[in-house]
Amino acid sequence: MPVLYLVLPCYNEEEVLPETAKRLKARLAELIESGRCDKGSRIMFVDDGSKDRTWEIITELFSNNECFCGIKLAHNRGHQYALLAGLMTAANYCDCCISMDADLQDDIDVLDDFMDEYAKGCDVVYGVRKKRTTDTAFKRITAQGFYRFMKLLGVDVVYNHADYRLMSRRALEALAEYKEYNLFLRGIVPLIGFKSSCVYYERHERFAGESKYPLKKMLSFAINGISSFSVKPIHLISNLGIIISALSIFGMLYALISKLTGFAASGWTAIVASIWLIGGIQLFCLGIIGEYIGKIYSEAKARPKYTIEEFLKK
Ligand code: UDP
Ligand code: MG
Repeated sequence: MPVLYLVLPCYNEEEVLPETAKRLKARLAELIESGRCDKGSRIMFVDDGSKDRTWEIITELFSNNECFCGIKLAHNRGHQYALLAGLMTAANYCDCCISMDADLQDDIDVLDDFMDEYAKGCDVVYGVRKKRTTDTAFKRITAQGFYRFMKLLGVDVVYNHADYRLMSRRALEALAEYKEYNLFLRGIVPLIGFKSSCVYYERHERFAGESKYPLKKMLSFAINGISSFSVKPIHLISNLGIIISALSIFGMLYALISKLTGFAASGWTAIVASIWLIGGIQLFCLGIIGEYIGKIYSEAKARPKYTIEEFLKK
């Protein structure tokens, strides 16, 4: 029977953790009962440098029941790194692991399906949302636009899949070989290969507490995802440059002809406007190039992605 680890990154989740732990414990017991996973399976909480009582709650859970284990990161590194810390630690003990959010927005009833797909020989199983009814219209539109845009840029992402996913031990070991600092797990996992499949589920509302992913974090996550996986924006710049240069040749010809035929340019408005326009475009392009240089900078430093302060496991 496979040893399953459920990995849940938590940041300031004191309001949801006790309930999450209770429900997951019951679910895990059912999974063990039905012969889908081993008794040595665990629920692993990764405290992403929370400022509230999250770590105290995890410690308490751990001391009361051996099915829980906990990792405390030394400081807040963000969801992707916290998740990676959990996955890489779990890889030492498990046959497969499933990552999910601590707020139980991901439907835990489909855990059976994940395990069944794993039993059929899949190394990666993606949890895919059926509908986005619990999202606000804004989140729905921006999220779906994001997935489409990624596809357009040639990045292989699974549509409507976030980080609710099963990975086998060998998939985790393959993931460990991806040394990049700018982490966008849902882009990397499809690159690993291996046999994969999908499990469909409804996403619920967060049952307590509020989202730790405000618009600002969501935007930077999206930009990071795009620039970590695609160099097409760079090509776009070159193409834009070519088009503008071509247009400016026509502009010059036009100016020359009007001068020769006696119709000298009369207003400075057009000139000023075009200076602003070109200036803006140049800045925009420089900004995009800067994004990539910034990445080279952080990749070149190859800093550790996370620091584990404490690790609780029986
Ligand atoms: N999270 C984290 N570190 C952060 C922000 C979030 O570990 O800096 C965790 C959070 O505790 C939750 C998961 O990432 O388990 C998803 O976050 P959230 O539910 O706030 O995002 P949303 O579902 O609103 O997109
Ligand atoms: Mg959530």
